[in-house]
Amino acid sequence: MLFIVQLVVAILAAIFVVVFVDRVFIKIYKLTEQHSLTDALTSLHNRRYLKNIIENGFQKGQGASSLVSAILLDIDNFKQYNDQNGHIAGDYLLKDLAAVLRRSIRKSDRLVRYGGEEFLILLPGASRTTAAVVAEKIRAAVEARQFTLPDGRPSRQVTVSVGVAVMPEDADHVEQLIKVADDLLYRAKREGKNRVCVKSGKSDGFQCDPLASAHLSV
Ligand code: GH3
Ligand code: MG
Ligand code: MG
Repeated sequence: MLFIVQLVVAILAAIFVVVFVDRVFIKIYKLTEQHSLTDALTSLHNRRYLKNIIENGFQKGQGASSLVSAILLDIDNFKQYNDQNGHIAGDYLLKDLAAVLRRSIRKSDRLVRYGGEEFLILLPGASRTTAAVVAEKIRAAVEARQFTLPDGRPSRQVTVSVGVAVMPEDADHVEQLIKVADDLLYRAKREGKNRVCVKSGKSDGFQCDPLASAHLSV
């Protein structure tokens, strides 16, 4: 009798250990995976995440349309900001800007820290006009925001330059879409920074007047 009780207890203990250990391992696996897809400074998604969602065709299942817009933005004169205020203040600004961007997007949009001070938003289902309006809202919000330094003092004004592209009109696939947005971001820098540049529909045409870009026809 005692032997049977001991056997049952041993079996129950073994089941408990198997289930518990399994759960712990699943949890550790999930945390590790999440960690590897997240940028440590801003807690935004990172390039590895972007690669994953592109490979998995993230825009599928968003309805019949394969319409996707890309907004690529870069902080203006960020090197100077670091030089004037220190690298820690630069990090602080990146975190604050990430929070502003997070608040500016819809749940279905994907926000990625694309490079040091470059951020990418992919907007499934968003037309050129919609993306241009979102981009201009972000640009204006950054321009109007009083960012602060880590010690609480107000920082100097911060601005961003932005490129906007849309698929399938401007590109056949997401990598190309990002490349077109990057070209437009480069145009925005060349045109004087603190502006949104959008393709104007014609093959090589583009428009960098933020207010006008909000009224582009699709
Ligand atoms: P532009 O207006 O043309 O974009 O000029 P910029 O100074 O913003 O661009 P540049 O490419 O010359 O310099 C980017 C700077 O961003 C240099 C680099 O040290 C800084 N940077 C990149 N990643 C980080 C980061 O994680 N933290 C901080 N504090 N700085 C970073
Ligand atoms: Mg920059
Ligand atoms: Mg840059």
